[in-house]
Amino acid sequence: MPEQKIAEIAMTRDIMDLDAEQLASVIVSWGLPRFHAKQIFTWIYERGIFDFDAMSDLPRGLRRRLIEECSAGTMRIEETRRSVDGTEKFLFKLVDGGMIEAVSIPASGRVTGCISSQVGCKFACRFCVSGAFGFQRDLSAGEMIEEALYLRHRSAAQSLTHVVFMGSGEPLDNYDNVLRAVRMLNAKHGLNIGARRITISTNGLIPQIRRLAGEGLQIELSVSLHAADERTRSALMPVNKRYPLKDLIAACRAYRQKTGRQVTFEYVLIRGVNSSLADARKLGTILRGFDCKVNLIPLNAQADPGLAAPGRSETAAFRQEVAKSGVPVTVRQPRGEDIEAACGQLRARHERRVCA
Ligand code: SAH
Repeated sequence: MPEQKIAEIAMTRDIMDLDAEQLASVIVSWGLPRFHAKQIFTWIYERGIFDFDAMSDLPRGLRRRLIEECSAGTMRIEETRRSVDGTEKFLFKLVDGGMIEAVSIPASGRVTGCISSQVGCKFACRFCVSGAFGFQRDLSAGEMIEEALYLRHRSAAQSLTHVVFMGSGEPLDNYDNVLRAVRMLNAKHGLNIGARRITISTNGLIPQIRRLAGEGLQIELSVSLHAADERTRSALMPVNKRYPLKDLIAACRAYRQKTGRQVTFEYVLIRGVNSSLADARKLGTILRGFDCKVNLIPLNAQADPGLAAPGRSETAAFRQEVAKSGVPVTVRQPRGEDIEAACGQLRARHERRVCA
C-alpha cells in the first residue's frame, strides 16, 4: 500500500473501518511488527474493548500513537432499554451528533442483532418511521461494526449469533460500507459470524440486487415486498415507481438462479390496504414456482395514524391463502413492543423529541 494512503487511513479513519490487513500495513509503516494488528483486533473484536490505553499487551509507544492518530469506538450509548421479552434496545449518539438504534433479540439459542445502516432513510415508506424525518447520512462500516460489538459485549445477552440489517436506513443504498461491514462481521479475525447468519434487507433496489448477486457471499437476502400489485406497492413504497414490482420479482429470480440462495419476501400486513384474501391470492400468484419464503409482519402502527394491522384471524387466513400456492409462509412475532424496539419504530421517539 502506498505511504500516503497508509498515512491517510491512519489520520482520518476509525480503526474499525480497517480490515486486519490494512491495520497491519499501518502498524508496519510505523516501523512495528505486524502482530500488533492481531493484538488490537483481539481487544476490539473478541473483548469489545475500544480504549487503546486499556490494551495492556501493546507497547506504550504504540498505544500513544494510536490514541493520537486513530480512533476506535466513536459512538456513545445514549440510552438502553430492556423489554419484558428480553429484547434490548440501544440508542447511540454518533460523533456528529446523529442518533441511531440497534436491537438485541434473544430467541431459542440465538441472539439476533438488528442494526441500522443509515441515519434516517431516503425512501419514505408510508408505514415506516425511519424515513419520516428524512435522511441524514450513511453510516461507515466501522459504525455498523460498532453497533454489532456493543450488542455482543454490552447487552444483557452478552452474545450475538445473527445480524440483520433491518434497523433504520436502506442497506443497499449504502452498498460499499454495508458490504465492508458484512465482510468484517463474517471475518475470522472480525466478529466471526457465519455468512448465512447475516441478513441484508432491502426495499428492492434492483441494480444493487444484481450487483450483490455477483459478490459470492452466502448471506441471506430479504426483500421488502409489502404488496402484490404495482398500484398498492407504489402507494406504500414510493421506490416502486422507480423499480416496479414486476422487474423486482424478475431480479429476485435472477438472484436465486445466480447465487443458489433463497430470497425471503417481507410483507407488512395492513388492514384494508394489502391484507385481503384477494391480496393473498395475488401474492401467491406472483411467487408461484419461485423457490422463496414469505414472512408476514403484522403492521406495527405508528408512522401513519390511518394504518392498522389486521386482526389475528384475518392474518391467519391470509397466511393460509398464500400457503395454498406452495410458498412457505410464516408470521413474524413482534418483539420489544413495550420498549419501542419493534419493526419500524427505531429512533422515532428520539426524533419526535428533537423535532417537536
Ligand atoms: N430498508 C430496508 C431495511 C429496513 S426495514 C427494507 O426496506 O427492507 C426492515 C423491515 O421492517 C422491513 O421489512 C420493513 O418493511 C419493516 N417495517 C418497517 N416499518 C414497519 C412497521 N411499522 N411495522 C412492521 N414492520 C415494519
